[in-house]
Amino acid sequence: MRSCQCPWLWEACSRMWQPSVCTWWGPSGERRLELPSPSAFTRLVEFIKLSSEDDIVNLGQGFPDFPPPAFAVEAFQHAVSGDFMLNQYTTAFGYPPLTRILASFFGKLLGQEINPRKNVLVTMGAYGALFTAFQALVDEGDEVIIIEPFFDCYEPMTLMAGGRPVFVSLKPSPTRDGELDSCSDWQLDPVELASKFTSRTKALILNTPSNPLGKVFSRAELELVASLCQQHDVVCIADEVYQWLVYDGYQHVSIASLPGMWDRTLTIGSAGKTFSATGWKVGWVLGPGRLLKHLHTVHQNSIFHCPTQTQAAVAESFEREQLHFGQPSSYFVQFQQASQRSRDHVMRSLQSVGLRPIIPQGSYFLITDISELKSKMPDLPGATDEPYDSRFVKWMIKNKGLGAIPVSIFYSAPHRKHFDHYIRICFVKDESTLQAMDKKLQKWKDELGP
Ligand code: PMP
Repeated sequence: MRSCQCPWLWEACSRMWQPSVCTWWGPSGERRLELPSPSAFTRLVEFIKLSSEDDIVNLGQGFPDFPPPAFAVEAFQHAVSGDFMLNQYTTAFGYPPLTRILASFFGKLLGQEINPRKNVLVTMGAYGALFTAFQALVDEGDEVIIIEPFFDCYEPMTLMAGGRPVFVSLKPSPTRDGELDSCSDWQLDPVELASKFTSRTKALILNTPSNPLGKVFSRAELELVASLCQQHDVVCIADEVYQWLVYDGYQHVSIASLPGMWDRTLTIGSAGKTFSATGWKVGWVLGPGRLLKHLHTVHQNSIFHCPTQTQAAVAESFEREQLHFGQPSSYFVQFQQASQRSRDHVMRSLQSVGLRPIIPQGSYFLITDISELKSKMPDLPGATDEPYDSRFVKWMIKNKGLGAIPVSIFYSAPHRKHFDHYIRICFVKDESTLQAMDKKLQKWKDELGP
């Protein structure tokens, strides 16, 4: 983290990254930051806004539109109406009951002795965890390997730390006639991945289960990433916020649990995703003391600590889940089952109008192929340099009342044109939303005719 001498930086940033280039000069006058204009985030916000209009079924943004489980809501109520000291400051690196339960819960899963004071940091959502990690570890000129399609904030967070994003795309294998493709067919080319590691590589960011693709990296894929990280002494930032949402019997494997990886991995989680309470904004980072101490420094000198009451509510919710872990009464089990049902519902419905969903192995999301419709209506309104998926989503929102996110925004600018025929759909939605979606799709189908 460095000092900023740009007089308008805070004003520009507080306007939610309006579509402008934002440049930041360091103490010796060097140019520090130039976000791609418009950044993926700006474009995401544009689509979220369009999808939020009345009468649009919003399948774009990634949040559940149903309540968190009753035990989590009660835990929040206890935190607000119980011990009045929960209204006050707590420890900088996390409310002790929360850091303790995170250490014991994840210690078992990762096969590690986790020290709640040295190996845990509670942050403002997983966003806060990612930002703190980038600021703490990435220095001017460091390279960060980002796997495409990527969660949109990885690129600007790398740039804001002064780093250089290096992109490598998952490659879909050729489609099989008649069958739906699976995101497990989207794979890294091992030779290409190896070629991205240089002496300047500081970190690789790995998101599994992934947003937007829903890919769950297999143990073999993780072993490849792990061996390259070890060979080149690179830190792995493992964004595992969707770890409980894995479908069809696939297994989530934390890369930190592989031999030799704990010592070079930061594992990031989110209470918002874990307990269907995205507004709570409680996240965490787990990792070795040698890395965590730098995150602690950044966090202590910027945020200091996250709201005590929300941390208390998350601690109580985890304590409840620990008692029910792996049983049918566990929220993680029930939420996974309900989400798989919603996923199947949405996949069936999308096919009725000629969309081809790529079966997701995990997460809140699926992406669906729009090529068939693209060949039937190639000339949608919009600027010719605007990616096709972006024009398609605008058309779909306006004419079909269905909101989604174009997948090209999850790619770096040079690769965008190769991936402009997919849209992202969030299926972790209430039954009533899915029914509203079905109505819109039925109308669309009727208009298409026999
Ligand atoms: N990582 C990924 C992959 C996400 O999809 C999200 C939320 N969309 C986050 C991190 C941020 O999580 P939080 O809401 O806890 O900040």
